[in-house]
Amino acid sequence: MSDESTTIRGRLNEVSPRWQGHLAIDDPCLVTLVEAESRRQEDSITLVASENFSSPRSRALEGSALADKNAEGYPGKRFAAGCEYVDAIEGLAIARLKELFGCEHANVQAMSATIANVALLQAVLKPGDPILSMRLTDGGHLSHGAAFHTSGRLYQVRHYGVGKATERIDMDEVRHIAKATKPKLIICGGSSYPRNIDYAAFADIAQEVDALLWADIAHVAGLMAARVVPSAVPHADFVTSSTHKTWRGPRGGSVLMCRQEWGHAIDRAVFPGIQGAPKMDIIAARAALFKETAEPEFAQYSSAVLENAQALAEGLRDEGVRLVTGGTDTHLLLADVTDFELSGLEAEQLLTQAGITTNKNVIPFDKQPPSLSSGVRMGSAAMTTRGLGRSDFLHIGTLIGTLLRNPTDDGVRNRVQAILAEMVEGLPLFSDRWLPRRSLAVIDAPTSRV
Ligand SMILES: *Cc1c(COP(=O)(O)O)cnc(C)c1O
Repeated sequence: MSDESTTIRGRLNEVSPRWQGHLAIDDPCLVTLVEAESRRQEDSITLVASENFSSPRSRALEGSALADKNAEGYPGKRFAAGCEYVDAIEGLAIARLKELFGCEHANVQAMSATIANVALLQAVLKPGDPILSMRLTDGGHLSHGAAFHTSGRLYQVRHYGVGKATERIDMDEVRHIAKATKPKLIICGGSSYPRNIDYAAFADIAQEVDALLWADIAHVAGLMAARVVPSAVPHADFVTSSTHKTWRGPRGGSVLMCRQEWGHAIDRAVFPGIQGAPKMDIIAARAALFKETAEPEFAQYSSAVLENAQALAEGLRDEGVRLVTGGTDTHLLLADVTDFELSGLEAEQLLTQAGITTNKNVIPFDKQPPSLSSGVRMGSAAMTTRGLGRSDFLHIGTLIGTLLRNPTDDGVRNRVQAILAEMVEGLPLFSDRWLPRRSLAVIDAPTSRV
């Protein structure tokens, strides 16, 4: 058993230590930079809500032999020979994804969620068609019709937003605008909205005005797959997602799910509509991710992500940090730093200096331009992957509050930095806690040659 799995693993990893040694000799400048990034990841508290540390199983497949195979087309309908194995791999990815989400049709080829989103729009709409989406500054995504994105130039875009007092999506406003503007497509899901979205209510409105409904679940897809937040799939005609945020898989990939009747149009919009040959190693990495997602450890991880986000919120609130909507239902928090007389950019820089990586973000009704902004976005997914728990997140929240209240105090910053350095000292990027016991037993067996 152990011998067999050793052989399989040996064949997956093409980059032998010998070749890594060559690279170090031939291109030391590049190798030094990669090693520095590696150390940066190990040494910092990563709270960027759109980042995670991908599963070792997914990583083992990225860059495997599959990376070199031209598989233009779809399983059984390729434009090059020798596709029997990659056909089976893509079929496996699709079947696992459909099983996981209970969707009717799935496409796994788009090379990012943004590309999947553009393909979807092209499959469903004609240029000039009216669409309705969440305003970017209220938490939407640029590929949902922002003026500077191709989606904003091709279609007639209207936006809904959040209510001023609640900072939550105002469903009455959504209904009102939908009735007035008769969109062909309504888009929900965003990048900096910390609350669950009422997909059923969106579906009702879409039905009332005879529009199609698209849910972009890029941020919460992992939580949704683990069933710790409500699913969009039963309610939406289309669901798109990346696979690298709360879903701990590879970057450079996406999933596109839809009702059967749209399957052909969606597939054609991805290839040949917008892309050439897909990245088969990334498709395999996602097939591994989909299997992993169905295991109990992933559900435990996802529950921990939610619990840790609550702890982080609690720590921040204890120190007087205002959170947009007062808190979160997901992994994502949006802190308003206006009261500290800091811009989002200044707060981001202050936190970076202390070893905490976040990103500045606009908040609803922001008075600052996006380049400065008034918010800092944070997420619990990445550091939960590293194995931090509730008390750590609570502590991080209070330390962030301390930093924000003392932005110019070097002594405070040095103290916080030392505490955080100790917290991450020796932590792996991917905690053994999230690996199934049975594979750990094989990997760690004394006879293993890996
Ligand atoms: C992150 C994000 C995307 C983009 O994903 P990429 O794979 O990086 O292109 C799309 N939509 C939403 C809502 C996102 O948050």
